[in-house]
Amino acid sequence: MNRKQHSRRDLLKTLGTGAIAATMAGCASVAITDARYQRPYSRKPWVAPKISMVNVIREIVGHRPYRPSGFVVKSERFGDKVVVHNYGHGGGGISLSWGSSALAVRETLGMEPGQAAVIGSGVMGLTSARLLQDAGWKVTIYTRDVARHTTSNVAGGEWGPFSVHDPEVSSPAFKAQLQFAARIAHHAYTNLGGPDYGVRWTELYTLGDTPIEEEGEFSDLYPYSINLTPNEHPFTAPYVRHELTMMVEPATFLRRLTQDFHLAGGQYVIRNFNDKDEILALSEPVIFNCTGLGAAVLFEDTELTPAKGQLVYLPPDPDVDYLTIGGGPSNLYMFSRSDAVVLGGTFKIGDYSTHPEPAETQRIVSEHQRIFSNFRNAG
Ligand SMILES: Cc1cc2nc3c(=O)[nH]c(=O)nc-3n(C[C@H](O)[C@H](O)[C@H](O)COP(=O)(O)OP(=O)(O)OC[C@H]3O[C@@H](n4cnc5c(N)ncnc54)[C@H](O)[C@@H]3O)c2cc1C
Repeated sequence: MNRKQHSRRDLLKTLGTGAIAATMAGCASVAITDARYQRPYSRKPWVAPKISMVNVIREIVGHRPYRPSGFVVKSERFGDKVVVHNYGHGGGGISLSWGSSALAVRETLGMEPGQAAVIGSGVMGLTSARLLQDAGWKVTIYTRDVARHTTSNVAGGEWGPFSVHDPEVSSPAFKAQLQFAARIAHHAYTNLGGPDYGVRWTELYTLGDTPIEEEGEFSDLYPYSINLTPNEHPFTAPYVRHELTMMVEPATFLRRLTQDFHLAGGQYVIRNFNDKDEILALSEPVIFNCTGLGAAVLFEDTELTPAKGQLVYLPPDPDVDYLTIGGGPSNLYMFSRSDAVVLGGTFKIGDYSTHPEPAETQRIVSEHQRIFSNFRNAG
């Protein structure tokens, strides 16, 4: 499978920036004293994150629930039970959550609201549960892990419905579903801005060796999109695209959703299910399957596979109030959040290993040191 098909900034991941970076480094000391070196939206000066191995506070691994043909939203009848599936969102589940869950809850149209079970307390389980409650259902979440121990709590959290499917494999019907879910979710998040839900707008800089293309089918969701030429910014990558995006801080968001769920009368049961039959034995007639990667075993979905991601945490730095994506080979990103400066990344399809790899940590750190090496405060 070609990794190039899994992300919006595909060209960034394959083009090395080393040679150009070296060229840029030579003229940077002149260039960055130029008055144009102010960020185009906020007009603030650029501040580099403080990146070094000695300041690493955490290394963490998560498994994106990836399906080349895309995520599953559909209902299935098993005897007198209806199971509504809502899983397999790859690297875009935080972004898609409200939209995918709205599509899932739409599967209950025409049913009289009663008792519903939601399996899973990641972002899909919690948003499904909240939307069901809003529609009048009495919801119990059954989950092996509380929200802070889910893949959802590992996510970087940038709003981007990407790395979700392989466009060469997925159907036109799935692509339409993705569009729909992404747009509903985007709308929902714009309603939740502020510290309560950990949602905010922020500047995003996408870094590349050639002029960066717009966000394609989602470009209208990224305001203030402009391309910066090599002499308009201090990054080592020559071409930079500036736009605004939403940052969803996973820990805050999941905590708040859990509170909302309890406030609306929701019940929470910690339980591991070994197979589908144990799920179908629940008393609720309507069951939402929001088990992420767990659906591979529980509902025998052989297409579902992990895409291992490794993140490196540095202490939070409020002076770094922007995000970057790209700037070198593989899936590099720097997300400055209130709990940490988060550096990614990797996207290893089929890799179930749960340990952080020291070589990847070293690579992620040194690549980011290089990306910011021309900044005035780099050190
Ligand atoms: C490193 C990394 C970075 C990411 N960055 C982003 C990003 O910037 N933006 C974005 O939109 N997305 C991002 N993602 C993707 C996002 O995290 C996932 O798509 C999303 O979390 C999937 O949510 P989920 O609720 O389906 O699954 P999960 O969060 O995995 O939740 C599954 C739930 O099901 C439960 N469960 C599973 N099996 C069983 C069982 N047998 N019995 C009982 N309960 C069970 C689990 O306990 C859990 O509660 C990232 C992911 C990773 C790993």
